[in-house]
Amino acid sequence: MRLLVVEDDPLIARSLNQALTPLGNTVEGFTRYAEASAALRHDRFDLILLDLGLPDGDGLTLLGELRERGDTTPVLILTARDGIDDRVRGLDLGADDYLAKPFSLAELEARVRALLRRSQQRTDNRLSLGALCFDSTSGVATLNGEALDLPRREVRLLEGLLLHAGSITPREMLENRLFGFGDVGSNALEVYISRLRKRLQGSGLRIRTFRGLGYRLEEEPR
Ligand code: CA
Repeated sequence: MRLLVVEDDPLIARSLNQALTPLGNTVEGFTRYAEASAALRHDRFDLILLDLGLPDGDGLTLLGELRERGDTTPVLILTARDGIDDRVRGLDLGADDYLAKPFSLAELEARVRALLRRSQQRTDNRLSLGALCFDSTSGVATLNGEALDLPRREVRLLEGLLLHAGSITPREMLENRLFGFGDVGSNALEVYISRLRKRLQGSGLRIRTFRGLGYRLEEEPR
């Protein structure tokens, strides 16, 4: 999952980042309206967390632009506790939900999960392909009903691949999931891919490499 946080308060931005990253997400952030507006014109996210009071513009304007273009990316607006007018305007403009500041991280996580679920039209937090099943709430993966005991990075890799099961997950997206945005050794991702391949041996699933593009988790042809 790729989340965008548009928030100019560094403390709030940091706590959002810390809360969302362990959910197995890639979190990108902007502090200014102009940057976020430009990024959203050519980039897609699975969810946008949007502060309304930005130093160079109004979050509601950004939301309006998005919906006017027909972009239906779920938007969770972050409002002040007493900002009832903002909430109503936000929902009218097509926000999917709001969270009043200060908010608890538990509430934030629950809202984010619910929105992502809704947007993917899933009724629970499970992703599956063939014999493989992954519960994104507990972080537990099972193969033929048996729990796989996976280290954290393999869990994140597996979830990243499952979210795009049947299509190619870009290599960069997987690297960000596993290692954050720092410099990554050129074959670090391959090491984890090959570990996961070993675990999937005989399961009827495979991870195919698409050179220069990424990887695809798919069922083996019978
Ligand atoms: Ca603000």
